[in-house]
Amino acid sequence: MSADDPAPAGASSLDSDGRSSSGPSTKFELDRETELRLEVEGPAPVRIELLTGMAEVFGTELTRNKKYTFPPGSRAAVFTWHGCTVQLWGSPDVAYVSKDTPMLLYLNAHVALEQMRMQAEREGERGPRVLVAGPSDVGKSTLCRMLLNYAVRTGRRPTLIELDVGQGSVSVPGTVGALCVERPADVEEGFSAQAPLVYHFGSTTPGTNIKFYNKLTSRLANVFNLRCDSNRRASVSGCLINTCGWVKGSGYQALIHAASAFEVDVVLVLDQERLYNDLLRDLPHFVRTVLLPKSGGASERSKDCRRESRDLRVREYFYGPRASLYPHAFEVKFSEVRVYKVGAPSIPDSCLPLGMSQEDNQLKLVPVTPGRDMAHHLLSVVPVDGGTAEEGIEERNVVGFIVITGVDIERQTLTVLSPAPRPLPKSVLLIMDIRFMDLK
Ligand code: ATP
Ligand code: MN
Repeated sequence: MSADDPAPAGASSLDSDGRSSSGPSTKFELDRETELRLEVEGPAPVRIELLTGMAEVFGTELTRNKKYTFPPGSRAAVFTWHGCTVQLWGSPDVAYVSKDTPMLLYLNAHVALEQMRMQAEREGERGPRVLVAGPSDVGKSTLCRMLLNYAVRTGRRPTLIELDVGQGSVSVPGTVGALCVERPADVEEGFSAQAPLVYHFGSTTPGTNIKFYNKLTSRLANVFNLRCDSNRRASVSGCLINTCGWVKGSGYQALIHAASAFEVDVVLVLDQERLYNDLLRDLPHFVRTVLLPKSGGASERSKDCRRESRDLRVREYFYGPRASLYPHAFEVKFSEVRVYKVGAPSIPDSCLPLGMSQEDNQLKLVPVTPGRDMAHHLLSVVPVDGGTAEEGIEERNVVGFIVITGVDIERQTLTVLSPAPRPLPKSVLLIMDIRFMDLK
């Protein structure tokens, strides 16, 4: 395969993979330590190609003369440390070069973390556990991705702990999880999640059941600790904990809880001085808390935009990144499934059974009878062996997800969309309050 010459402005060319790069084409000369920021709203994707020099997208190096596609909905920055030339095809809604980036500060953060890893290596200790916090849309996920990329490019094997149940990067929305990062994120597809550890939460905001959310955080911390005990490299490499943008009230308490469950050494606070000061006050003194500026490129996303990106995550789960997978649709009988919801609706204290608190109620497994209102809901599949009781099921990891695409009351059957062919594994299904319309 040979790369094409850059197409002249306004022309279209054919790529090595046969797809045409239509639309106007522009060449950008980037000086050192500048970035080309892109926002693609649609309808057509935008493609870029690095012609000369070196550049990276959120910490992943670009391959020269390879075309990268950014579909509608993407936002990205092509950053260069030493200068480069980039060709762009298509009409992004936003495309400008910024000289004012916080990248040097982010790189310094990486250097400091790497020093901690080297010290951990020398002294037989564990490497840095880093919590990234901040309000919405300040670039938390992006900073995690960069620091993970830099770490893995330095030869480390850091773990991503994803606590954002709304816009997570490990699995579908409504889950928390962990991923051992073994190679830099793919520019177009992010980190490859071949064997992530995933837990069901069931909703896109921790506030729906904060007790359960904190319990899952503790669970992830325990599992990560076990892994560190048996894998020295993972232990030295440490972890990056990505959190959601809810930083007030219980959201703030959840951050404190995560910091303590993981016994974090470093907290990186993006953008918000107030949050930084609160954390500085409330976390133990040995925790290094650092305030970092947000990038001007990290821009606000509307509610609709968030919903769309959540939908896309679910779609990608079933259909693959480029509709490369074929999910299965099949029927199951009502009698063949056991469906639960985690957490009973809160009831007045006076109505609680003796000896039970409201909090116990939040962790209760409530059986759900299959019916019409299950349609379009996303469900987590939690395997159970033989006749095991359902006890503690909410704390077990998920092996996959299904969507109920149809409910037939007369025939007492559900139609499900599943990544694997029938039958469903021996399992319990945990229902989410997240819905997905299969419009394929
Ligand atoms: P949330 O609160 O939703 O979790 P967040 O704080 O994690 O948001 P990101 O998702 O990292 O923020 O960034 C918000 C958006 O801005 C993303 O679409 C991301 O791709 C984009 N973005 C981040 N940094 C840049 C940049 N330097 N240039 C262009 N776009 C950027
Ligand atoms: Mn995020």
